[in-house]
Parts: sequence; structure tokens; C-alpha cells
Amino acid sequence: MASIFYAHFLKNKTSAVYGCSYDNNLQLNFSRATDLKEIRKFKTSKYSISYIGNTYKNIRQDLINGLYVLFIGTPCQVSGLNNFLNKEYPNLLTIDLICHGVPSQIYLDEYIKSLNLNTQPNSLTFRGKKDFFFTLYKDNTILYSKNSDEDIFYKAFLDGLFYRENCYSCEFATSKRVGDLSLGDFWGLGDEIPFNYDKQDGVSVLLVNTEKGKIVFNEVKDIIFFEKRTLEEAIKGNEQLKHPTRKHKNYDLFLKLYSEFGLKKALEETLK
Ligand SMILES: Cc1cc2nc3c(=O)[nH]c(=O)nc-3n(C[C@H](O)[C@H](O)[C@H](O)COP(=O)(O)OP(=O)(O)OC[C@H]3O[C@@H](n4cnc5c(N)ncnc54)[C@H](O)[C@@H]3O)c2cc1C
Repeated sequence: MASIFYAHFLKNKTSAVYGCSYDNNLQLNFSRATDLKEIRKFKTSKYSISYIGNTYKNIRQDLINGLYVLFIGTPCQVSGLNNFLNKEYPNLLTIDLICHGVPSQIYLDEYIKSLNLNTQPNSLTFRGKKDFFFTLYKDNTILYSKNSDEDIFYKAFLDGLFYRENCYSCEFATSKRVGDLSLGDFWGLGDEIPFNYDKQDGVSVLLVNTEKGKIVFNEVKDIIFFEKRTLEEAIKGNEQLKHPTRKHKNYDLFLKLYSEFGLKKALEETLK
């Protein structure tokens, strides 16, 4: 869905769009795109903190210059942008991701180092088309690839062991959203009310929160397949629409072991 919105803005409006991608040093940074070719790098979820840098300033300049701007990020980043702008811009559309928390870049760097790969990787993915694999590449060669059950960084992420402290009291983990639209994975789709279509490749959940969001949704709805479902169903499958992730029972132990023995050992011990 994210790509649908990016492409819609770039094809149909004089616009700039914003998203994040890993650079060659595997640092996750936001950047600006004005060409369709550039949006590929924004694809797929990256499960570490993304750096905003000068993005808010650049967005304000784009808005003042009259460009249509699309910003997709975590709800805290959308809220940060709204606070920074401190003004309604009709030419800005924000999409917040339903988010259960992010680990720091420091953990990611330390984890990759601890794998002792022969070559320094220069790209990383967490999600394939259908799968959940933590994969490290040097150019197009795979150096390391394990699924979310086998890779301890991925497991710690999904188990909520090592997010940033503030994620555990996130004020945006609610169905009252900060973005014009909200985007997530439709966990639990069809569990109670039948969903009569193939969901093997994954189905997005999209919440339409504002009039602006509704207008843009109406502009893309003919090029996607969508079905109206209840908000209750979305909330039921996605606890992040109700409350922040609860701290893992070994959270304190993890921090203690981390400060003594480093990340790998702390993860191994606390995820046993
Ligand atoms: C840290 C994190 C936690 C998430 N937790 C949940 C959850 O609990 N429940 C749920 O339903 N969905 C969650 N999601 C959202 C979900 O995984 C998908 O990203 C979302 O549904 C968009 O999918 P897509 O296929 O439309 O686009 P994709 O191509 O998968 O997403 C790309 C978009 O996400 C942005 N993005 C990717 N990683 C980050 C990041 N680290 N920080 C900011 N922006 C990022 C990109 O810039 C781009 O705009 C989470 C995403 C992230 C990044």
C-alpha cells in the first residue's frame, strides 16, 4: 500500500515524498524522493529506529514551495512533524504506521558485528514478499539469512524485548491516530467475519482518519482491491491499536546482562 500512495503522488501531483532506507553502512535514514525510480528503496519494513535528520525542515520548505508532500513514518514521527510545522497544510498528507516499537541503531550495529561475517554487509532486509527473514547482503550476495524464529535479533524484536524505553509507554498506540491514514498488517483478518479472498501474500489494514485521508483514499481506490471491514476487527488483531507493547518479562534482566556482557549474550540468555 505504501508504494501505491508514493506512486500516486509522484505520478499525479507535483510532489515530494518521504520514506526511509538503509544506507551502505546499514544506518536507517529518511530521505526525499521526487522520481518514481527512487521509491523502491522505501519498500518493506525496517525494524530499527529511523533517523529523521533534516526531514521536517525539508518538508516545510516543500510545503511552502507549493509541492504536495507525502510523509510515511511511525506515529511518533508523524506527531513530531505536526508539532514542528505547527500549522495545517492542505498539501501535506501523513500516513502513520501501526507500530509496536523499535530497537535502537546501536543494537542493530552491535548484533551485525557479533555475527562475525567475513565481509561487511551493505544492505539488509527484514521482509521478503511473503516471509519474515533477517537477511544481510554484500551487493547482491546473501551473507546471512535466518527466519524470525531462528534469528535472535528478529525474535527479540517480535517478542518486544528491546525497544526504546519510550515505546513501552507510547501515547500513539491507540485507534485514535495522528496520521491522515494509518497503515499496518491486517493480523486476524477473517478470524471471525469471513474474508472470502486469498490472503496468502498478506493484506494491509488501512485506517482512514481524516477528510484529507478520505480524499486521497478515493483517488487510489480504483487501482487497488479493498474491502470495508470493522475497526473492531483491526483492533482485535493488532494490540498496538489499543495499548503500547507490554515490557517483556525479562526486560530488566536483558538490560542488566547487556551492560555486563553485550548484546548477543544478553539476547541468548533472555530469549532461552
Ligand atoms: C518498526 C515497525 C513496527 C511495526 N509494527 C507493526 C505492528 O505492530 N502491526 C502492524 O500491523 N504493522 C506494523 N508495522 C507496519 C507494517 O510492518 C508495514 O510496514 C506497513 O503495513 C506498511 O506496509 P506496506 O506493505 O504498505 O509498505 P512497505 O513497503 O512494507 O513499507 C514501507 C513504508 O514503511 C516505512 N518504514 C519502514 N520501516 C520504517 C521505520 N523503521 N521507521 C519509519 N518508517 C518505516 C518506509 O519508509 C515506507 O514508507 C510496523 C512497521 C515498522 C517499521
